[in-house]
Amino acid sequence: MELGESMSGVCSLLMLTIQNINQDHKLNFVDVLSEILLEALLYGPSHRRDLRAENDTCTYIRSLEEDTVLNGIRRKPCISDGEVRARALQILLDLCSVRQDIPIQIVEMLLQKDKCQLQKARYFSDSHHHRLKNRLMQVLLVLEPYLSYDADLKLASWLYESLHKENHQPSVRHQQEWLLVTILFRHRKLIDDMWLKLKEACEKRTGSLCSFTAVVMFLAQILDDKLDKENFVDKSMSEIFPFCMGQHFSVRLYAQVALKKLWDLSRKHNFSKVLQKYQVMQSCLEVSLSQANAVKNVHKLVNDFWFGVFHPVQHYTFETIFYDLPRLSSICSDEWIAVETLKECGLDSNNTILLENADKSLKNCESISSNSGLSDQPEEDCVIEEMNNVQKKVIPWKYMLHDADSLSVFSETMLQDKKAVAQEGLIVIASLIDRAPNLGGLCRTCEVFGVAQYVIGNLKYLEDKQFQNLSVSAERWLNVIEVKSVLLPHYLLEMKRHGYIVIGAEQTSNSVKLNEFNFPKKSLVLLGNEKEGIPANLLPIMDTCVEIPQLGVIRSLNVHVTGAMFIWEYSRQWSLR
Ligand code: SAH
Repeated sequence: MELGESMSGVCSLLMLTIQNINQDHKLNFVDVLSEILLEALLYGPSHRRDLRAENDTCTYIRSLEEDTVLNGIRRKPCISDGEVRARALQILLDLCSVRQDIPIQIVEMLLQKDKCQLQKARYFSDSHHHRLKNRLMQVLLVLEPYLSYDADLKLASWLYESLHKENHQPSVRHQQEWLLVTILFRHRKLIDDMWLKLKEACEKRTGSLCSFTAVVMFLAQILDDKLDKENFVDKSMSEIFPFCMGQHFSVRLYAQVALKKLWDLSRKHNFSKVLQKYQVMQSCLEVSLSQANAVKNVHKLVNDFWFGVFHPVQHYTFETIFYDLPRLSSICSDEWIAVETLKECGLDSNNTILLENADKSLKNCESISSNSGLSDQPEEDCVIEEMNNVQKKVIPWKYMLHDADSLSVFSETMLQDKKAVAQEGLIVIASLIDRAPNLGGLCRTCEVFGVAQYVIGNLKYLEDKQFQNLSVSAERWLNVIEVKSVLLPHYLLEMKRHGYIVIGAEQTSNSVKLNEFNFPKKSLVLLGNEKEGIPANLLPIMDTCVEIPQLGVIRSLNVHVTGAMFIWEYSRQWSLR
């Protein structure tokens, strides 16, 4: 296993070899095997970039199928990390079918590993930590049906602790909710304890109430006995109702969605006791849910795959655990293991779990994240990063300079150079703008796109804290000059004499659309005041007015945004070609 860290293919070869060993032999060295399997079940080093590139290349070659000679020579030139995990799981399940203590032992080892190495208040999406947690949860989900009551009890208490302590990424959160629902569905007497843990959640980590609410919602949906179901819905209504008025945005939203679902369920099954008891609450909820923002957010959550499509019992398959859930909860695609791969690795439907979903509902779901796009997100919730994409932290001068001193010398010389060329490119005039954040933001945008000159109404703004917060020192690299707004008519006419075309960024009766406008090389863009726009006395001085066509109901754009779009368009036409 250690060698496999640095040499791709070794671990899969090891798993393949173990798969081929006779079952009785395996049982002879089951203790050592458990240790190996534990590592293999979580296998997939995510930090070795060289190997990742190698694997990606192999996967690509493989995808070319018969077209590539290489594939003809060796049908499987490379095995992915996911295949190692799938083979390890197959070996484990084979052992589980003959020895009941093995799944219990593996689960204990996994929980121990999590407690010692993986518990963290928060972690980043797609980090190694996230992936390990995701893989660990997948194994727990597969093994749960093999566990005894006592083992399930331990697993449940670990789940509560994990939910209370850690702010999980959506994929892990969903897996934990699913596992808890499964355990509670199997052992109904544990439900009482769940209500206690839900109460504790208010003090321990309010955000975890979202998960508890989801668990309650799923349980209400799947409980089969009519009386049990009605009593459970009744209890759920009274427990969840208070959270509809809480301070935490997501919890409030989840609670409202849960109540709506519970109400619909009560109507469907005609739970007259519940319908009568919570009539008033339902009317309040209706009003609150019909408010514009709520409609949008609730609609998103209700239609999300997790609350809209997923069924904790019907979708309890390898396919959901290893492919659809990771895919739909936005974990990086190299963590998804397709059904074909699982099959190739020897996994198939067995007595406890099916390979594939009987329906296509999850397959047809689009991958929008479970929690993405809810407006007003509080800090507790995760920001969903675009998959397979990372930010480039560009430091353009990093390789040119060696120390801090040369940085200031460099800044000076560069400014001199820029002043020299100021006769040429785009000039942005912000003298009419009043608000320091707009001025600071524009300063940054001008610097980023190499604007020749940035004109502001007063150089004092450069010392303003709000300006500096937004400009991030861009003024050091940019040619900034002062032209007071009262002097603008004079300045503009002067610049015209130097061959500049004066363009007013404004929505006027004669304005040209930005997307149809060709910027002259010597362009000067005048931005309007935040409130008043460009004053009437300046409009006649403009050679032309250009506007950004709008589609929405708001009358105008923010002035920094406007400036940025103009600067971008100019750069696109002149500098970025
Ligand atoms: N004239 C606007 C006022 C302010 S918006 C009004 O009557 O409400 C502030 C400035 O942002 C404007 O003066 C203009 O320079 C710029 N701006 C906003 N939306 C714009 C658009 N769609 N096209 C061009 N400029 C725009």
